[in-house]
Amino acid sequence: MSRILGRVSPNSELHLYLLDFASRLMQKCAMATKTKTQKALRALDQYCSEHDLRATEPRRAVLSIVIQSAQTLTAYEILEKLKKKMPNPKPPTAYRALDFLNEHGFIHRIESLNAYVLCNVDHKHTGSQFLICDSCGNVNEAHLCHLPASLEKEVQATKFHTSFWNLEIHGLCKNCR
Ligand SMILES: [Zn+2]
Ligand SMILES: [Zn+2]
Repeated sequence: MSRILGRVSPNSELHLYLLDFASRLMQKCAMATKTKTQKALRALDQYCSEHDLRATEPRRAVLSIVIQSAQTLTAYEILEKLKKKMPNPKPPTAYRALDFLNEHGFIHRIESLNAYVLCNVDHKHTGSQFLICDSCGNVNEAHLCHLPASLEKEVQATKFHTSFWNLEIHGLCKNCR
């Protein structure tokens, strides 16, 4: 937007229109994030009450931090942001909240980036695949909830018990190609 504004003469009608348009767009984005946060926190509260778990303040705060970030976040970055939401949080507080949210499927850990991302569909699936853009860092979650048959056959042949799995595919997203 600032690149477009730079080409329009200042204070012209078009300039003012674009400024107004940009500010309304930002307001809309902020409102959408707020709604998304409220919805996810309600889902967390409901899930916890149904499973006799506690939606503690750090768990709620960490979840809202992950929701509000467009990019993946490392545990350290989450801890830094948590300091703005809670007085003096200790690293284990953030790590325990992350483990909880990851274990219950509200967020996912991207192993190859050592970072976390919000589950973009529902928190009740067992398998995940991530398409990771190495240029902009954008992570897309694909949902094939079962292992491909050929792989499943091999797993069963070794009598291996799978507790969870994920598949991380690195490359370039359509905006970066
Ligand atoms: Zn997910
Ligand atoms: Zn990209």
